Amino acid sequence: MISNRIKSLSAYKTEVSPASVRLSSNEFPYDFPEDIKAKILEEIKKIPLNKYPDPEAKELKEIIADFFGVKTENVILGNGSDELIYYISMAIGELYLPVYIPIPTFPMYEISAKVLGRPTVSVPLQEDFDIDLNRSLERIREEKPVLGYFAYPNNPTGNLFSREKIEKIREEGIFCAIDEAYYHYSGETFLEDALNREDTVVLRTLSKIGMASLRVGILIGKEEIVRELNKVRLPFNITYPSQIMAKVILTEGRNFLEEKIKEVIKERERVYEGMKKIEGVEVFPSTANFLLFRTIFSAHEVYEELLKRDVLVRNVSYLPRLNRCLRVSIGKPRENDRFLEALDESIKELMESKSTHF
Ligand code: PMP
Repeated sequence: MISNRIKSLSAYKTEVSPASVRLSSNEFPYDFPEDIKAKILEEIKKIPLNKYPDPEAKELKEIIADFFGVKTENVILGNGSDELIYYISMAIGELYLPVYIPIPTFPMYEISAKVLGRPTVSVPLQEDFDIDLNRSLERIREEKPVLGYFAYPNNPTGNLFSREKIEKIREEGIFCAIDEAYYHYSGETFLEDALNREDTVVLRTLSKIGMASLRVGILIGKEEIVRELNKVRLPFNITYPSQIMAKVILTEGRNFLEEKIKEVIKERERVYEGMKKIEGVEVFPSTANFLLFRTIFSAHEVYEELLKRDVLVRNVSYLPRLNRCLRVSIGKPRENDRFLEALDESIKELMESKSTHF
């Protein structure tokens, strides 16, 4: 009885291989300090576990609105931004109308569309990973998508698409969902557009700034749009413990967060420079908390060599344009050192084993 639509899908994949240096999921490398954890425990103890949480997560919404410099009327919270991506795909435009997606990108845009039976207009990025505007406009005029997803910066390529190209695409009448999951590492945003226009929303998340376990995503948009999208939201979608934990962290942990975000950005530049020095490796500039790189060997071989050295990264070479590519998240300085050493050794090992083959 399962629909063909669902049968043709494959489930979202994540890395589960054991390794002590885990740099595969773009997580924040730092857990919160003990005093913040103690405060969380104290607050959690007070939760009546038999009761539903506040369906609107009002207090948390106020703190988050303040954190991002917007009003609560402009905010919807989701169980991760993944849930909000589903809501956007459900609510924007009729379901028989297509969704525009520049690829490769974050897979949930396509998965959410396909689950709903929506056609997609997937247009490969240029060689430099920016949007191919001419090809996009051609396809948009032929297939008439009404919604577009833009990861800004893009995952897994790490770059920011050209703002003008996104604006040109929007001028074709496409509602733009700008996914700023990595905003804290890029500093670039479409927030003003989201607050002032009916054809743009911005997505943010707490996952990339140390709270992946909480599952809290944020949609920011004009009040009229937020009011409509809120009708799709499942009741009680933010659990009581998550509401409490996020509240404590965003009030008491802000200095810690700011300091550590700066450290991740500094480390990103250090790892980038370190990778550039490794022969046989091409690393791409990034405005996120991860780096995309290509080597002269197959991504699978490099992935396995790194894993032998207890370092886990993401093999993204199956995606269009990303032949021989892998993605590494920025970790703590010591983890980044281990990664750089392991990559250097892995490439040397592969060079030696190939040369003895000939
Ligand atoms: N958007 C992008 C671009 C991502 O890379 C990710 C996670 N890897 C998400 C959204 C999902 O975020 P969340 O944990 O809030 O569901």
